[in-house]
Amino acid sequence: MEQGKYLIKVFGCQMSFHDAEMLSGLLDEAGYQEVSDPSDADVIIFQTCCVREGAERRIYGQIDELRALKRSRPNLIIGMSGCLAEKDKEAALERCPHLDFVLGTQRLGDLPEILMALAEERQGIVSVGEGTNLSPLPISRSKGVRAYVNIAYGCNNFCSYCIVPYVRGRERSRMPGDVLAEVRAAVAEGFPEVMLLGQNVNTYGRDLDERVDFVALLQAVDKVEGLQRIRYMTSHPRDFTEKMIWAVKETDKVCEHFHLPIQAGSDRVLEWMNRGYTTQHYLSLVDKVRSIVPNASITTDIIVGFPGEEEPDFQSTLDLVQTVQFDAAYTFVYSPREGTAAAIMPGQVTTEEKKERLSRLNALQAGISRRRNEALLGETVEVLVEGESKNNAQVLTGRTRTNKLVHFVGPKGLTGRLVKVNVVRAHTWTLDGVLI
Ligand code: SAH
Ligand code: SF4
Repeated sequence: MEQGKYLIKVFGCQMSFHDAEMLSGLLDEAGYQEVSDPSDADVIIFQTCCVREGAERRIYGQIDELRALKRSRPNLIIGMSGCLAEKDKEAALERCPHLDFVLGTQRLGDLPEILMALAEERQGIVSVGEGTNLSPLPISRSKGVRAYVNIAYGCNNFCSYCIVPYVRGRERSRMPGDVLAEVRAAVAEGFPEVMLLGQNVNTYGRDLDERVDFVALLQAVDKVEGLQRIRYMTSHPRDFTEKMIWAVKETDKVCEHFHLPIQAGSDRVLEWMNRGYTTQHYLSLVDKVRSIVPNASITTDIIVGFPGEEEPDFQSTLDLVQTVQFDAAYTFVYSPREGTAAAIMPGQVTTEEKKERLSRLNALQAGISRRRNEALLGETVEVLVEGESKNNAQVLTGRTRTNKLVHFVGPKGLTGRLVKVNVVRAHTWTLDGVLI
């Protein structure tokens, strides 16, 4: 079979991004070539997200836009992979008859076979449900300084708003030896930083026979020679412990950045969300982080307008944000996801109300983020250089260990290196510095 050119459009979180790297790996191995223009591609894959309705609408919109291209080039193969594919299955083909395949989150490895079958006969193929992703797939990593490494797939938590457990299956940890081998391979490829991925990294290993937990895994990865920095995502405040904080303090490479999604600042809303902790518990974790690792940054995720959330509940969220003083918060309006418990809960909040709350929350957090950044003025920070800034080729960009984006002037050759930078200006989302 003649091998062609492919393009993958990625939507969603780091895990989705990393799935796309595995699809690329499979295609590269099969002799395909990546292109950046859809009109050059023989295969176009949408690696999708469905965590909120907005993502879903955007993706279907973009797939619809390819109708004309497909009409003019009937041999073009268009596929959908990832969370939306796993969620919608056959319905995705019904909705978009010009789609050729739908590939579920645990079925990435089926891609070469699907393409071969489509070369024989054109008919929509749906491959979803339980699969074999735990066996290692080839990875074509995107250029950059950060390599993503899965440590666990799926999630057991069933937060009442969240569709992830339905489209990613139950939690399955990878063997520590496999994780380590992949980290070493990434370092050998030249990546100075790894990000370990799991929906709830703090329950890593509970499903394995081998006695290993996330802290032990971090300690092992910390010993990988040549690696400079370790990040991880995501911690669940219910399973995150003081032992974790000490591990961050006592390892060399694990960065002093704690992303701890609170989701809401009202205890009754947290209970409806099925999060399994109280605000008091969360605040005690924040206190521990600040006392053990004083220079750490703390970031969070917050959903506003969960069903039943009333003004006083929202006020509690604002109060909590004020109390904690997060470095940054990723904020979302609640989006009902069919099949989840919250979608049929009473007291759904109107769109206007949700948007209004979101803008109040964002305004509060923007001021806090800016003040947190201003506190760094005059300090010297370690920056891992990522390359030229997106908006200005004269300027380099990189991140501090605390995950703050820093812009500074310097030679492009520093990309991938650790440098010291003096912070001279603070903005809400970024810092300006001078290379030392
Ligand atoms: N496993 C991670 C990430 C889950 S999805 C975690 O538990 O933190 C990333 C974020 O999307 C969540 O933290 C949550 O804030 C948001 N999110 C998930 N489902 C949502 C929904 N239905 N509506 C709005 N935001 C949602
Ligand atoms: Fe979704 Fe909760 Fe699992 Fe995160 S922990 S993926 S929010 S169910």
